[in-house]
Amino acid sequence: MSIDELQEEVDKLLEEMDELQEVCDTLPQCNEDDGCATCETNKKIEELEQKIEELENKVEALLGEEEDDE
Ligand SMILES: [Zn+2]
Repeated sequence: MSIDELQEEVDKLLEEMDELQEVCDTLPQCNEDDGCATCETNKKIEELEQKIEELENKVEALLGEEEDDE
């Protein structure tokens, strides 16, 4: 996968995360103390966060490789 493709994927996941966060904000459960700790939406957000982190690490690794070529 190229850097551009990876960055596109990160953007897509960030958008998805934003949408989930909005959903989370409207859930009655999430207005309670620690309600988000057990909500399904928050779990999905955390999964997305992890994926984004992995992709960003890949982008950084690829960027590092490019620098080595110079
Ligand atoms: Zn929540």
